[in-house]
Amino acid sequence: MPEDVQMQDAGEVETFAFQAEIAQLMSLIINTFYSNKEIFLRELISNSSDALDKIRYESLTDPSKLESGQELYIKIVPNKNDRTLTIIDTGIGMTKADLVNNLGTIAKSGTKAFMEALQAGADISMIGQFGVGFYSAYLVADKVTVTSKHNDDEQYLWESSAGGSFTIRPDPGEPLGRGTKIVLHIKEDQTEFLEERKIKEVVKKHSQFIGYPIKLLVEKERDKELSDDEAEEEKEKKEGGEEGETDESKPKIEDVGEDEEEEDKDKKKKKRTVKEKYTEDEELNKTKPIWTRNPDDISQEEYGEFYKSLTNDWEDHLAVKHFSVEGQLEFRALLFVPRRAPFDLFENKKRKNNIKLYVRRVFIMDNCEDLIPEYLNFIKGVVDSEDLPLNISREMLQQNKILKVIRKNLVKKCLELFEELAEDSENYKKFYEQFSKNLKLGIHEDSSNRKKISELLRYSTSASGDEACSLKDYVARMKGNQKHIYYITGESKEQVANSSFVERVKKRGFEVVYMVEPIDEYVVQQMKEYDGKQLVSVTKEGLELPEDEVEKKKREEDKARFESLCKVMKDILDKKVEKVVVSNRLVESPCCIVTSQYGWTANMERIMKAQALRDTSTMGYMAAKKHLEINPDHPVMETLRQKAEADKHDKAVKDLVMLLFETALLSSGFALEEPQVHAARIYRMIKLGLGIDEEDPQISEETAADAEMPPLEGDGGEDASRMEEVD
Ligand code: ADP
Repeated sequence: MPEDVQMQDAGEVETFAFQAEIAQLMSLIINTFYSNKEIFLRELISNSSDALDKIRYESLTDPSKLESGQELYIKIVPNKNDRTLTIIDTGIGMTKADLVNNLGTIAKSGTKAFMEALQAGADISMIGQFGVGFYSAYLVADKVTVTSKHNDDEQYLWESSAGGSFTIRPDPGEPLGRGTKIVLHIKEDQTEFLEERKIKEVVKKHSQFIGYPIKLLVEKERDKELSDDEAEEEKEKKEGGEEGETDESKPKIEDVGEDEEEEDKDKKKKKRTVKEKYTEDEELNKTKPIWTRNPDDISQEEYGEFYKSLTNDWEDHLAVKHFSVEGQLEFRALLFVPRRAPFDLFENKKRKNNIKLYVRRVFIMDNCEDLIPEYLNFIKGVVDSEDLPLNISREMLQQNKILKVIRKNLVKKCLELFEELAEDSENYKKFYEQFSKNLKLGIHEDSSNRKKISELLRYSTSASGDEACSLKDYVARMKGNQKHIYYITGESKEQVANSSFVERVKKRGFEVVYMVEPIDEYVVQQMKEYDGKQLVSVTKEGLELPEDEVEKKKREEDKARFESLCKVMKDILDKKVEKVVVSNRLVESPCCIVTSQYGWTANMERIMKAQALRDTSTMGYMAAKKHLEINPDHPVMETLRQKAEADKHDKAVKDLVMLLFETALLSSGFALEEPQVHAARIYRMIKLGLGIDEEDPQISEETAADAEMPPLEGDGGEDASRMEEVD
């Protein structure tokens, strides 16, 4: 329990300050004008349902945690006289520390994320998605008390009227046994939530698919026969002018005496009845679990309602698959694709409410990781197995064969669902925008389904225009003599589309796939080919474009003509490059840097460098192996060739080669190791261009040295003393 937030300790009542962001959230909830307040009930019922899930799960491995015969339920009790609405559950309950931490002092990432979302125009009803649903109680209540009893602690009472603080005290009141009771002191203008009709409507709308009985305490009326004495009393009252009224506060049940049986018979016809009020629990969610029903009888609205109650999402799902598997093993499943990726899709290891596991209609656990691979972690739904044992634990599940078969089937069905989605290009676009990273992760993770997943990928290409296309489309457009699928990886579509690597390939009429997400580097490493066509990077060595006899002959000639320049350049660049060769991929640029077949690309090198905390020792051997390719048709290269042939030790040649190399690095997407050296070289060229004498010691020596050396300590002259003054 965080000590610092504890403000005072008045006997047994302890007062705590809400964590700042939570306090902010609460005042937002209280002060924002918002009419759809009913969602508070959904949030509290959903919390109760989670708490019931937890105790049921714990009891699977330790049955003593759930005393025998203790029913798992949620109960709602409206009380108009006290203007309170009470929600009780027999779930896991909260210890004192849980109350302090969960309800006020430890902020979750969702607190801030939700407030930001609100500012960006989100709706308060989205609160559940951000994991702060409890505070929606303050939409309708000005004071909330939470009484809770956990197996490991005594019963405690949490109370807050917002305003920045809450109290906790031991609760000697009526024992709950186990579970939580939330009493909402309803605001004056929100009393409609005490009406039976309203509560029923809200529960039906938002919580009908909760897996535990939701009971509502309802007031009813029935006819009650009056005994003789009562009838007499009644008659007297009537005569006294109190027409038709009964006094409900007094019980009026009295047996008719047995010795008067005979007489009684005679009186029977004249027996009088009165209306009597009584209360009763009414179960509000008696519907059969939706996944056990026949899909033909279920409307899209019903699926939508179920999806929303399962996930706390505020929008309907994008796609759904409802199926059953029979045979050696039997299960039913209902899988949904949401419209959006959650705000913490790849951030949070703790994935909640994804696939719920049931065994023969009994809820077993939330978020069963072994049911679905990591890359499908955005799929929501339920699986109900006929074969698994009821008392299964997480540990047992890991090795369970039945579960492995279920998992395989779920993956198969998910991929089927995506294929169906792909038939509708508008919807598929929405899906792809949200979950393309997951599919790409799938290429990486799931080798057995790699082929199927590769069909689902979409890329922009040099020929696809604004729309992205499938690799299948690409292959359909391939030229007769084209054997490979050409691709380039990089930072953005604009960058790769304008890169010198794409020039010739495009000019020769071949299409290039633009891969601009970091994960694409991993995709191509795993995929290697599609439909029997090798994936070839246009930025790697050995790019061979199909060529005719004339082209072939020209290339041979170019190679011979530039052989000596290549050698001169390699000598100058030395270890900076593996080799210097004549290129067949350039049109406009004089040269470019390509990487070896098996090393990293420039893009990959960029990605790896950006990953802080990475062990830098791997950088050494994985770092891109660079080849310099020169454009034999470029006048710069031709002139350089002539210059080098005249004098291969020419200082200007050396400088120019270095400059070309560094510039090629930049334009090929690499970072310069020593940008200041490059800058110094450029400045020298500028001076040359401006006709400033390179030999002038005053300027050139100093600036060149400055550029190449980091400033020495205390070498600041005036600047340093000025800094001191400021200090
Ligand atoms: P979320 O339920 O999304 O985590 P909430 O703000 O609604 O966020 O609730 C915060 C935490 O308080 C829950 O995670 C849970 O640990 C606890 N809690 C809330 N309601 C109950 C309840 N009825 N029974 C047990 N624990 C509860």
